[in-house]
Amino acid sequence: GLKKHSDTYTSTCCYCGVGCGVVLSKEKNGTITLQGNQNYPVNKGMLCSKGLNLHYTVNDKSDRLLYPQMRYHKNMPMQRVSWDEALNRTAAVFKTFIDKYGPDSVAFYASGQCLTEEYYVVNKLIKGFIGSNNIDTNSRLCMSSAVAGYKIALGEDSVPVCYDDIEMADCFYITGANPAWCHPILWRRVEAHKAANPDIKIIVVDPRITDSCGIADLHLQLNPGTDITLNHAIGRLLIENGDVDTHFIANHAEGFEQYSAVVFKRTLAESAGICGLSESDIRLAAQYIGKAGGFISMWTMGLNQSAIGVNKNLSLINLNLITGHIGKPGSGPMSLTGQPNAMGGREVGGLANLLPAHRNMSNPLHREEVQKFWGGTEISPKPGLSATEMFEALNDGSLKAIWIMCTNPLTSLPNARLAEEALKKAKFVVVQEVSNKPESLKYADVILPAAAWAEKEGTMTNSERRISYLNKIIDAPGEALPDAEIICRFAQKMGYKGFDFENPAQIYAEHAKLTAKTNIDISGLSYDILKEKGSVQWPYKKRSTNNGTPRLFTDKLFYTPSKKAVISAVADTLTSELPDADYPLILTTGRIRDQWHTMSKTGKVNKLNQHINQSFLTIHPADAEQLNLKDGEMAVITSRRGEVRVKASVSAEIKQGVVFLPMHWGKILGNDLNRANNVTNNLVDDISKEPDFKYCAVHVSKF
Ligand code: SF4
Repeated sequence: GLKKHSDTYTSTCCYCGVGCGVVLSKEKNGTITLQGNQNYPVNKGMLCSKGLNLHYTVNDKSDRLLYPQMRYHKNMPMQRVSWDEALNRTAAVFKTFIDKYGPDSVAFYASGQCLTEEYYVVNKLIKGFIGSNNIDTNSRLCMSSAVAGYKIALGEDSVPVCYDDIEMADCFYITGANPAWCHPILWRRVEAHKAANPDIKIIVVDPRITDSCGIADLHLQLNPGTDITLNHAIGRLLIENGDVDTHFIANHAEGFEQYSAVVFKRTLAESAGICGLSESDIRLAAQYIGKAGGFISMWTMGLNQSAIGVNKNLSLINLNLITGHIGKPGSGPMSLTGQPNAMGGREVGGLANLLPAHRNMSNPLHREEVQKFWGGTEISPKPGLSATEMFEALNDGSLKAIWIMCTNPLTSLPNARLAEEALKKAKFVVVQEVSNKPESLKYADVILPAAAWAEKEGTMTNSERRISYLNKIIDAPGEALPDAEIICRFAQKMGYKGFDFENPAQIYAEHAKLTAKTNIDISGLSYDILKEKGSVQWPYKKRSTNNGTPRLFTDKLFYTPSKKAVISAVADTLTSELPDADYPLILTTGRIRDQWHTMSKTGKVNKLNQHINQSFLTIHPADAEQLNLKDGEMAVITSRRGEVRVKASVSAEIKQGVVFLPMHWGKILGNDLNRANNVTNNLVDDISKEPDFKYCAVHVSKF
């Protein structure tokens, strides 16, 4: 469990959304060591390469920001100041902008790596007291299409399954994901299940041959952007083969007729042609799914990071709905969260269009309820700026001030050069950070040093709705403070009431109270219970002997007004930037095994840098030959937005016509040519506002 022993403490890995449990030991010299928590239900002691090396990132303090810094003018140098000076000035500047230009002239850009308590206070501050909804996080770049998909299909942003369903499933459809590298411990569980039960079927859908294909019975190497066409073709075959759950469709779902009409618009031959797949492979996939007793669909960025990301999500969830594979053991849609606490952030409403506990911003009763609870100003019905919109608004001057916490936008945002221009133009930039590396620090007017993982306590929620408590093990270096404390101190400088929390437990308790009577009710879950039980899956209404709710919708009652799940007849039209004569190749981006996001943590660990130590472009041998580009030679990748120069890795593991760049590298010593996001597109999905990282048109040449 999560109990604190003499000198060992339990916590949760702060990298991916799998949420593995760790046990940390504090050494006499103040450093920490760590191992996987044998008693933790998620990972049962296992850790991947990133998790195993997590303590190095804590012990190495060489890049840490230690003191608040500030400059009074853009041309002046940064100087060390006290917390009071930094926060008084920031409050004065924010007040000036709010008075002069209104509350929407300021914004907070936060992170799926924030603890739930941190998300809670910053969301409360801007929505409940400043009076703007301008808070967004890098979860916008990650899970927002899945959020919208769940809301439409199930009535609310609710992952229906638990990880224990893995061992009960006999067919997995993994699409737009490479969990072998990006969600390794969850994948170990799928591998072990397959090894023990060779007859279970694993289908991997990806334009690349990845490590996840290693145990696949079927790899569908589709053309990028054709996911909906493929899912519809499988849907059509399931209907034709009589492999749909007619009872579920008749009693617990709506929209099937329209769906059926849409999927029958294309013949199998036509769909196979669009997807670049064989008819027989699509038939085999439909057969595996149709005959499954338990069917899990797994996905992540390949579906989410798309200009049609919400429709891609819906087309996938449809497959679970028409087969009735939801709300029962071994079945359901299992979105793989990219970040450790994107889920917790969604629970407190920490995105520009959300309210706490999955309440709706567009609902006046919900707004009033939250406003009364907080006791602040009226909550605006207008959704705030999303991640990319914030930077566009800085560029056009309508947004004056931005407060960036716990994220590195100049590496991670699409069209990063545009984002850099935006920070140059911003009137006032606050950067709240652990590390001195992020490029955004160069544009900061105020730098606030933050405590890192293991230096503060709080909670996170993983991909299966599991809330865990993270212990504080060591003190933060210098004057660094926990993010929640920084925000609360600032709110008090602004003169707002309701931020005088004495500790994270009090913040958590307020958040939990606000969830009462909602579908994510954790009003019965205190820090004490969390510490005692180790972790709990929401909802958890009152103290019970179990560990919460492993599986949702077991009663087949969904959160929609009709209580029925919605099967959506989405079109398969692709709105991405298509290749043409000038930019003939399709670029997709992604992760590598041993790095995390923008490398500010994993980049510090020698062992992790040994796997792949520089950026690269994967290109198919036939495309490389046409360009006279050989393996290891420098390639120049250009798009309408910018340029990247990296070594070519010529490999048949990628589909012809498609190239791949890893997303991790940013500007290094003033050189931004490793940064994949120089070329990516800031086009976003209409509904989710998630950017199209997985599809844009590029030109490649030999340097
Ligand atoms: Fe951490 Fe994810 Fe690896 Fe688990 S799988 S150890 S949560 S990075």
